[in-house]
Amino acid sequence: MQNLFLYNSLSNKKERFEPVKEGYVGMYVCGPTVYSNVHLGNVRTFMSFDMIYRYFLHLGYKVRYVRNITDAGHLTDDSDEDKISKKARLEQLEPMEIVQRYTTDFHDILNKFNFLPPSIEPTATGHIVEQIEAIETILKNGLAYEVNGSVYFDVIKYNEKEHYGILSKRNIEDAIENTRNLEGQSDKKNPQDFALWKKAEPEHIQRWNSPWGSGFPGWHLECTVMSTKYLGEQFDIHGGGMDLKFPHHECEIAQAQACNHINPVKYWLHGNMLTMNGKKMSKSTGNNILPEEIFSGENDNISKAYSPSVARFFMMQAHYRSILDFSNDAILAAEKGYNRLLEAIELSKRLEASETSTLGVKAWSQKCYEAMNDDFNSPILIANLFEAVKWINLINDGKESLSSKDLELLTSTINTFVFDILGLENAQMQDDNSEKIDGLVHLLIEMRKKARDDRDWALSDKIRDELMDLGIQLKDGKDGTTYSLN
Ligand SMILES: [Zn+2]
Repeated sequence: MQNLFLYNSLSNKKERFEPVKEGYVGMYVCGPTVYSNVHLGNVRTFMSFDMIYRYFLHLGYKVRYVRNITDAGHLTDDSDEDKISKKARLEQLEPMEIVQRYTTDFHDILNKFNFLPPSIEPTATGHIVEQIEAIETILKNGLAYEVNGSVYFDVIKYNEKEHYGILSKRNIEDAIENTRNLEGQSDKKNPQDFALWKKAEPEHIQRWNSPWGSGFPGWHLECTVMSTKYLGEQFDIHGGGMDLKFPHHECEIAQAQACNHINPVKYWLHGNMLTMNGKKMSKSTGNNILPEEIFSGENDNISKAYSPSVARFFMMQAHYRSILDFSNDAILAAEKGYNRLLEAIELSKRLEASETSTLGVKAWSQKCYEAMNDDFNSPILIANLFEAVKWINLINDGKESLSSKDLELLTSTINTFVFDILGLENAQMQDDNSEKIDGLVHLLIEMRKKARDDRDWALSDKIRDELMDLGIQLKDGKDGTTYSLN
């Protein structure tokens, strides 16, 4: 078994990975709240965990990867209304129309970036019964209280025996001292308490019946309930963006302890944020870019379009716990590097083996694994891959040589890391196919022209109609026939 080390946010240390059950990995990652288009910063977090998922699979673990969809209960900062209900009210749509639209967008974008789907993708609305049961357990255990149809978690009482702040390293006593004088904390006993169940006001659209009246669950609870249901009371890895550490993940720990009396997660992993041009991304200032805008090039912050694989390579060049800054120069440089890597992979297929090796391929392959085993250090891995790019060019120039066994190890290792683990795709190969399609359509346009010149209307119509069925539309103009792909 590999000596894999990962950085645990709970201990703030790198720890050797020892799964709860040998050979198995249970991993939960907080998914999106589906009320708007997924932005590039979200994509980066999910991509880091896609890479981690891929690496565990490669190592031979049986992985159950759960990533939820938040489709209820995520309160907006300034009111008692949740994000999806608010959007539904403003757009005069059913909440489930909002959920469907942005869940589809989320999946489309992730597919373009070549994500593997999680093993289970549960939704908050699909687990209302389990959430109500968990609230009843926490109430029974004396760590929550009901006021006017809402139920709150009693942070102060919990903190008497457990440590609220264990993950975020916050001292709850200090926090209480600082917030004691705050006004308008509604029904809560203390400002630190958080909602397990909220009473639905008359205008609130999403609502369910409960022992406390008509309402909806608090956001933090769904993750506790769904991770426990599918991964058990204690599981291996919980991931998410660093911004979720407090309060969301802190609350998850408290709820799970209050329900099951056990620390729910062995390893907490947190991905860092993506900035743009050195500043926080923000819709209001225009310092922002959507994934679709990267693929189309339609954004003032970039000079051209970039393929999803180039954007993926750009993100993989940074360690998942480091801040990464997006800029046109940075992604342009990534594109050059990525093309060099792909060219070397193509070239490696044509290399000829020699009798003997002049390069230490085995030690190099080991270094690739060591990089990933050191808290999934993808930038070091990529530096090692570029060492191999240099070798491939030297072998091609006849300056170095490899035996057939070493050549096989070199090419299989590169292909495994680039395509299976980093999840990159060969965009050049896709371009090759589009060139072939272009050639074929032009050939058919020529044949149709010939048919028309021969007044064979049946044949010319057949070509046009059958192309149309394939989603290729011909347009006859003054300068000849062109086509578009629908
Ligand atoms: Zn969560």
